[in-house]
Amino acid sequence: VLSCGGIVTLILSGLGGMWLTQKAIEPIEASYFKLKQFTADASHELRGPLTAIKFSVDIIRNHPERIHPKDSKKLTAIASATSQMGQLIEDLLFLARTDKEVIVPTREKIEISLSVILQNLFILLEPVAQNKKISLKSQLTDNLIILGDKSKLSRLFSNLIHNAIQYTPEGGIVTIELSKQNRHAMVNVRDTGIGIAEDQLPNVFDRFWRADKARSRREGGTGLGLSIAKAIAVGHGGRINVTSKPNVGSCFQVRIPLINRSNTPGKY
Ligand code: ADP
Repeated sequence: VLSCGGIVTLILSGLGGMWLTQKAIEPIEASYFKLKQFTADASHELRGPLTAIKFSVDIIRNHPERIHPKDSKKLTAIASATSQMGQLIEDLLFLARTDKEVIVPTREKIEISLSVILQNLFILLEPVAQNKKISLKSQLTDNLIILGDKSKLSRLFSNLIHNAIQYTPEGGIVTIELSKQNRHAMVNVRDTGIGIAEDQLPNVFDRFWRADKARSRREGGTGLGLSIAKAIAVGHGGRINVTSKPNVGSCFQVRIPLINRSNTPGKY
């Protein structure tokens, strides 16, 4: 109650045109960090019991002869919900870490080829697209090298390509483009999908924001994929943007600095 009262007073004084002093901001900052710490702690605490549930379900499913046919579907539903909850907890913990520490410390960055990362993702995700009768295309400039964390970058682009496939109806096209622009690598993930309304575009990188909650949940989404993508892009000194038109398609653009070294192609 106290801190809520404090916030209200601050808002009112802000509206009155007064300066917010550091002392006045402190309680707001403290409750903001407490809230974030709560999310991190709660996610961490949920991990243990969830692992226990998953372990027990796996044991039961390993003996199909002992499962009553009536219970088989229920067990499959429990296993799927458990894995979805597991993904949600891992995503929350990942984001909680981004609040506390630099998400990609310099010591963990190595010279890597964005071209190779995207080529590998293309090979991995082409069958997923084909399964949905979507044509996955790529236009990749060779040998663009950045300093980065390979698994985090794969996660960033995999989130974008998965989304593009998920939010594009059958018969559509998803294109992955990699090019060099001045001292940066530019990656575009373009689709001919359902798009996002203009007034909703400022929200897309917010945690848990989903244009259609029911649809996203049904398809296994947590609403955290784009927040994670943004955290990883920023952790590499880059940025991410989106342009979109409903029923026409979307284009997610990631810009990451190239390695600062002259006379090597793909570097500057
Ligand atoms: P999730 O896909 O798990 O719901 P994301 O954070 O990856 O969560 O995306 C948030 C929301 O942004 C999605 O629920 C969807 O409404 C919208 N979105 C993301 N990518 C696209 C896309 N390529 N086309 C249309 N909408 C998208």
